[in-house]
Amino acid sequence: MHFNFHLPTHIQFGEGSIRRLRQAIAPELRRILIVTDQGSFGGSGARAALLDQLSGLAVSIFDEVEANPSLATIQKGTLMARETGAQLVIGIGGGSPMDAAKGIAAFAANTGDMAAFIGGAPLPQKPLPLICIPTTSGTGSEVTPYAIFTDHTQGKKVCFAQPAIFPALALIDPELTYSMPAALSIHTGLDALCHGLEAYLSTQGFPLNDMLALTAMEQVLTHLSAAAQNEPEARTSLSYASMLSGICIAHASTILLHIMAYPLTLFHGIPHGKANAILLPAFMAFMQNRSSVPEKMHSLQRLFEPFGGVAAAIKGWGIDTRLSSYGLDKALFVPYAQQTILKDDIGITPAHISMEDIVEIYNSSW
Ligand code: NAP
Ligand code: FE
Repeated sequence: MHFNFHLPTHIQFGEGSIRRLRQAIAPELRRILIVTDQGSFGGSGARAALLDQLSGLAVSIFDEVEANPSLATIQKGTLMARETGAQLVIGIGGGSPMDAAKGIAAFAANTGDMAAFIGGAPLPQKPLPLICIPTTSGTGSEVTPYAIFTDHTQGKKVCFAQPAIFPALALIDPELTYSMPAALSIHTGLDALCHGLEAYLSTQGFPLNDMLALTAMEQVLTHLSAAAQNEPEARTSLSYASMLSGICIAHASTILLHIMAYPLTLFHGIPHGKANAILLPAFMAFMQNRSSVPEKMHSLQRLFEPFGGVAAAIKGWGIDTRLSSYGLDKALFVPYAQQTILKDDIGITPAHISMEDIVEIYNSSW
């Protein structure tokens, strides 16, 4: 057996942990940039707690991060980080503000070509230190070396992936997720479920990672409904599952499902976690027939059995899994498949996959 388990992010987990943030900030870091969106920062009650923790420090706030942040937003935030001489970046919100904060921390310290860095060119300088504070429970971005941006000129989502962008600290306070409405709770929770499932199947997985992935999936399946009804212990389980599945994708990545879901978000505005969930039943059916890991598919089947199988589970959380009901035209599936087949994540999906297979998975979700 060979594996590499690398997690340089310090994790501080627990209810109310935002009220202990100051202890984690080195005294020489005096100029702070908060990166967030318009809603989650104020809505989750985090604003007062966070600003209280930062009292006496020079705090600037960049709150223009939109869902699925664009490259232009990252550039704007980077400029602000440079202008304010930020020494520490704090990303607070869902995956979008946390990913934006990763980009801003990296590019504030590196003046070279942003597109080249996103394409994989190494960062000459270390990014600014980064603290990530999730207010959703889904992406696990607080513990991953990934940041997903939207490139509107090329019409695609791009993944900035470098070990240097792991946050220094993931401060996970489940109380910050209490303000999520039910639908957002379900969508983000299903993103965590798909992270666990895809990392479990990924050819980059290994037994330790698989164990975390199985626990993450089991936690989501068991507690998602109660979490969406704002039951505190279930909220904690979802924050925990989201972190676990984030650790899993940090090591084994997501696979075919996530890259197939990107166009649904980019061109049809379907939220990220929901887009994955819509395609999950057809993806699982394909893998059931075609994967090179039948024993793992069997374990997944057993996991979903108490919920009546994958499709019934997803529908049970109120997700319509027919793409036709979101106004998609079938003619779009060929161009989407042509984009998808080019992505590296095809190579770590344990099945032989052709473009026609991808079209077929979209078609069966129609
Ligand atoms: P998000 O795009 O960060 O947030 C969606 C909306 O959730 C926000 O606009 C905000 O709405 C609301 N919100 C957030 N926290 C809230 C709270 N506590 N209470 C009430 N509303 C809250 O959603 P996300 O699903 O967490 O992140 C998705 C992004 O993460 C995508 O770009 C995806 O590609 C990326 N992602 C990254 C990774 C990674 O490893 N880096 C992994 C998976 C996904 P309002 O503004 O209306 O309040
Ligand atoms: Fe995701």
